Amino acid sequence: MWLQVFFLCLSCLTLSNQSQDQDQASLHRSNDHAGRCHYTFTVASPKESSCPGSSMKPEMDEVLSRLTLLEALVSRFIAGVDGGVGTGAGANGEEGLQEAYSQVTGERNQLQQDKERLNRQVQELQRRLDELSQEAESLRQKPCKQTHTSGGSQRDNRPASDTAYDFGNGAYQEMKAEVTEVPASHLIPEGNHNFTGCGELQSVGDPVLHRKADSITGKYGMWLQDPEPQGPHYTNKTVWRIDTVGKDVRQLFAYEDMEQFSRGFPMKVLVLPEPVESTGATVYRGSLYYQRRRSRTLIRYDLASESLASRLDLPHAGFHGQHPYSWGGYTDIDLAADEQGLWAIYSTNKAKGAIVISLLDPESLEVKRSWETNIRKNTVANAFMVCGRLYTVASYTTLNTTINYMFDTATSVGRAVVVPFKNKYHYNSMVDYNHAQRKLYAWDNFHMVTYDIRLGRPSHSSS
Ligand code: CA
Repeated sequence: MWLQVFFLCLSCLTLSNQSQDQDQASLHRSNDHAGRCHYTFTVASPKESSCPGSSMKPEMDEVLSRLTLLEALVSRFIAGVDGGVGTGAGANGEEGLQEAYSQVTGERNQLQQDKERLNRQVQELQRRLDELSQEAESLRQKPCKQTHTSGGSQRDNRPASDTAYDFGNGAYQEMKAEVTEVPASHLIPEGNHNFTGCGELQSVGDPVLHRKADSITGKYGMWLQDPEPQGPHYTNKTVWRIDTVGKDVRQLFAYEDMEQFSRGFPMKVLVLPEPVESTGATVYRGSLYYQRRRSRTLIRYDLASESLASRLDLPHAGFHGQHPYSWGGYTDIDLAADEQGLWAIYSTNKAKGAIVISLLDPESLEVKRSWETNIRKNTVANAFMVCGRLYTVASYTTLNTTINYMFDTATSVGRAVVVPFKNKYHYNSMVDYNHAQRKLYAWDNFHMVTYDIRLGRPSHSSS
């Protein structure tokens, strides 16, 4: 076969030999993949510019199709140029949108400015309201030497110790009517008018706001005044406060009086030697008594010398969440003072979670005597002592709750009672009694409040 091809090519060469230029013919020799030698002659045609047949047709077809495509593109381009009106409308539409967008943005900015202005006004009004509230409160606490005229019937019904009702200046009548309206539950029944001695809890008044904490650390805490201050450093007007949010609570704030307390200006900040646990601390006879963090250790901190005076474990007392009040917050050990001394309110495993009351030696912190009640500590919100009697608060969140239980250490008998009590701010973390002021002090959801209370002879002897 290769020989046939060779002769065919050779004859072609021979046929065209006379008119072929020697330079137009070339011989090419190469091996195929099997190693056989191949000879190839290449000769250009003298007449035909291209080979006859269909070898160029696919290329031509491709060129034609590309031309057609180009024509189509050119037609579309021309049509686009001719349709200039449509393009202009698109530009106009874009301008319109831009204008609308600018307008909306402008209106939004204006609204933003209005909102900021209104916010400033609200803040200013809030500030004015706070100032007026504080002013009203300070006015209430300042006794006035004016003779009493109208409104005396209210004053006559108040305990002698409540100076809020000792002013009758006409200029203050309107404010007095607003801020010192006596709730019906507060009026003293006949027979207990002048009762100032120890007695059973008859009623609790509405909470009176003294200060609202201004940071998250004031969510809960304790605040009190010393009912029996010692020495010249501090008086029964001094207000003590501990914000107990946090893990290392050591700051004890001292305020000169209730007015400075309401304004938020402490006169001193004492740093305690050991961290405080929860809201159960109390102030009594010139000392701060508190539970050391994560322990059953009680500490007496002397306020005048600013030093640790004594420390002692409260035997078997649950701590750090073993026997808290229903609020939780590690309220395992609650210290309280009343007319009869210093008390610890807590529970033990032996008491199976029931409230245990111990009378403490205020110097050494030793337990002098204990009582076991039959009310579970974690079913009540808080507790306080008045005249040697324990009282428990049913709920720390319900607005209208009750003092629901009383235990008398004189008779070692407890019983259910119903004395209305208000959690105005729905998160009452501390309630304690001050027998000098004859008020309850409480810390209710950033709000430091007091409640007037009324004591009386037992109902069967109140005639
Ligand atoms: Ca308490």
